[in-house]
Amino acid sequence: MRCPFCGNTETQVKDSRPAEDHVAIRRRRFCPACGGRFTTYERVQLRDLVVVKKNGRREDFDRDKLARSIRIALQKRPIEIERIEQMISGIVRRLESKGDVDIASDEIGQIVMEALARIDTVAYVRFASVYKNFQEADDFEEFVAELRPVAKGEEP
Ligand SMILES: [Zn+2]
Repeated sequence: MRCPFCGNTETQVKDSRPAEDHVAIRRRRFCPACGGRFTTYERVQLRDLVVVKKNGRREDFDRDKLARSIRIALQKRPIEIERIEQMISGIVRRLESKGDVDIASDEIGQIVMEALARIDTVAYVRFASVYKNFQEADDFEEFVAELRPVAKGEEP
């Protein structure tokens, strides 16, 4: 596994343990070249999904890309990293279990918004504001109002 800090490919695994209720293996890695430490998650890839964009373009589903957008939405929010990873895995499992290799990008956005709304309202609004085009602002307000009580109820 290549070191994300210096690019060295000879990194060492310091610790491996099950994570996310045994659907992933979490590995702590160490780079002897730069002293960097990082974590990787190993998961079963059930099958390869294809994202179908609004304009009809197709591209391979990219878990990292999805994870990135979710992490950006959750930046500086008081949510544990482990919980975020769990949420991302949950979303991917939902997509994989839909029984269809093709998934509309809209559908993914919708699932992500639902998941975010359940753990953090601020992150949800951030994601939604980037994701949606706000052509129908009223609809959006309605959507937020609908989801807010759920998010509030789950606040610790
Ligand atoms: Zn390194």
